[in-house]
Amino acid sequence: MPVPEQRRIIFRHIDEPGYTNDIACYLRNGGYEVMKRAFTRPPQELIDEVKKSGLRGRGGAGFPCGVKWGLVDRKSGKPIYLIVNADESEPGTFKDRYIIHQDPHQLIEGTMISCFANNVQQAYIYIRGEFPHGARILERAIQEAREHNFVGKNILGTAYSCEIYVHRGAGAYICGEETGLIESLEGKRAYPRIKPPFFPAVLGVYQCPTIVNNVETLCHVKYIAEVGGEAFAKIGTPNNTGTRIFCVSGHVQRPGYYEFETGKVTLGQLLNDVCGGPLPGRKFKAVIPGGSSAKIMRFGERYKGKRKAGTEMVDYDWGVEDVPMDFDSLAMIGTMGGSGGVIVMDDSVNMVEALANINAFYSHESCGQCTPCREGSLWMKRITTRMVHANAREEDAALLKSVADQIPGRTICAFGEACSWPTQSFVQKFGDEFKAYYETKKTRPADALPLV
Ligand code: SF4
Repeated sequence: MPVPEQRRIIFRHIDEPGYTNDIACYLRNGGYEVMKRAFTRPPQELIDEVKKSGLRGRGGAGFPCGVKWGLVDRKSGKPIYLIVNADESEPGTFKDRYIIHQDPHQLIEGTMISCFANNVQQAYIYIRGEFPHGARILERAIQEAREHNFVGKNILGTAYSCEIYVHRGAGAYICGEETGLIESLEGKRAYPRIKPPFFPAVLGVYQCPTIVNNVETLCHVKYIAEVGGEAFAKIGTPNNTGTRIFCVSGHVQRPGYYEFETGKVTLGQLLNDVCGGPLPGRKFKAVIPGGSSAKIMRFGERYKGKRKAGTEMVDYDWGVEDVPMDFDSLAMIGTMGGSGGVIVMDDSVNMVEALANINAFYSHESCGQCTPCREGSLWMKRITTRMVHANAREEDAALLKSVADQIPGRTICAFGEACSWPTQSFVQKFGDEFKAYYETKKTRPADALPLV
């Protein structure tokens, strides 16, 4: 299958020589023209375009954006808020930060169109505390937009007014979970809320209806307003419309950001043809396709089953390299497209040590409300830490699986799944390495840096 060309929608201008992140450059490249046209249309028409587009959220869960907007309680009489989720805390994911740094006005334009469509008069960009540079860029960009009357009172001479505020998080993974984010925005500890009743669309920030959308998602909204929902739906593949940005990190020759029509590029094409293949003398061993919480895939595995192609069901028999990079195909083989963070590991990586690293992260980031998550993530970390400190036991793989299996579905938020899936998949797919680790009583050199 020929390697598709990159389809640059979000990255249309970002890497052009001389393209800068100030408003003058954005305006020279047609900036805010889509918004001007959108503001002449009935808001419901814009919502319908987003519904028609089939756009799925790019933050991780892949929930349809138009459906999310459709759930908003518009009858309560309370103000509706929009929050831009720029927390981007999933390890291996760095696309939103890049958009913010290089093209903040694209995000502001998409946000303002979304606010207008949903009658939002106050929006927040919640950006993680570790991104101070991005926060400063956004603050400056919002001020520029305000000076041009794209944000603020009586925008573009209409009766519509809307403000955008940048809110910096204090730096916690769980602030990326939308109800944890809302708690944090309200000035409280970022404890995710129990749902129901606290679906943000009904009871979000300040107990008002709230839309939470990811940075990349809102940039797509701008493009949908430009070309229409039907045209957008023709990009990509059915149910996986538009483009996706893949941030590839780890053991490839050309890591970076790549934007393709969703589902048109396979994982093998992305890693071998686009990213230049493995490092010299190395072979690919494993890949996590959608941020560190997605289940790992092992090179050499095969996946067989039936899938929908148009109106028909067809057989598929894929190696790791053959899997199309879209939400549904990755879900079919037991993993997920998640946040688009593709983490590649070659044969230099010891999988027990890699899992120890991941477990240390999730244990640290559990908010602690739910016993299975708080205790389970801690125990998984303790076991893998003990293993990498030369005290592996024969029963460790089974013990890890037993702990991990008791977390998903028993917690307030999806962090329960996020922290258990790495352990479940590493142990299932690399059981041989866990056994070898025990058998060789592997020890790290005394002068090695601590792993966890
Ligand atoms: Fe907190 Fe974990 Fe429970 Fe989520 S699953 S609310 S992170 S303890």
